[in-house]
Amino acid sequence: MIRVTPIQTGTVSIRPHHHCGEEGKGPFRRKIDMLMDKEWVENLPIFTYLIEHPEGNYLVDSGDTAENTAKDFLPAWHPFFKHGVVVKVAPGEEVGDQLRAMGLNPAKDIKALILTHMHHDHAGGLHHFPHTPIIVTRENFLLANSFKGRIFGCLPQYFPRWLSPTLIDFTNEPYGPFDQSYPLTKDKSIVLVPTPGHMRGHMSVIVRSPDVTYVLAGDATYDQTFLLEELVDGVTYDVALSKSTLRQFKLLGHQEPTLLLPAHDLNVVERLNKELILPRTELEVVA
Ligand SMILES: [Zn+2]
Repeated sequence: MIRVTPIQTGTVSIRPHHHCGEEGKGPFRRKIDMLMDKEWVENLPIFTYLIEHPEGNYLVDSGDTAENTAKDFLPAWHPFFKHGVVVKVAPGEEVGDQLRAMGLNPAKDIKALILTHMHHDHAGGLHHFPHTPIIVTRENFLLANSFKGRIFGCLPQYFPRWLSPTLIDFTNEPYGPFDQSYPLTKDKSIVLVPTPGHMRGHMSVIVRSPDVTYVLAGDATYDQTFLLEELVDGVTYDVALSKSTLRQFKLLGHQEPTLLLPAHDLNVVERLNKELILPRTELEVVA
């Protein structure tokens, strides 16, 4: 049996121009809009996902940490961390605490932690997993640990000193509409696919159960409504590339019943409970 369970590690608030950039604007102007923005979107959930699979339990992303709730913990020199984001994570809301509350020992009961990418709200809970294999793309790990990574939303100064993840490169093995993939489980029902645009080396996790295909999309899209309209966030480094990632998700939804589970979508729980799959009619846009 395969089961996917969202675990919410607090909330994050961001600017509307971060949530969704203006059509026709490139990456640089989208960043300016984000910094000039005076509004906030409502608090968005920070989801990690537990996948229970016959080969073991996998966790996708580690959420944020309660430490980032304290403003002086985030770099004060940084305009994004100073003006662009508010993290709210209570101590008991960190993913390690929540796994324990579910009866799972984070040190022993997780076969691997997969990071869609290493932004602060996805890699903030790494300290709960000192003995767990951690998987991230080579491209994303190198970027996250560079100066550019610090500029664009990562906090490598707070990564645990023991961190030494398994760095993956995708093979040219197509999976559905994706040209490249990386099978995670022996039965190939969990597959990692490249979904660039939000951050270099960003990947998504595809979980194929007998009834439905789950797409754990990280931040490849913030919200299903944006996906369906092919609207791209303010963070993107390449708008066309982000859009092509969104089209690949839509194409997958056309090929098989697909349930979209991004990291900050307000409707994730309802979508799972009601088994609301991606609407296939939207595919006319792609065809
Ligand atoms: Zn992100």
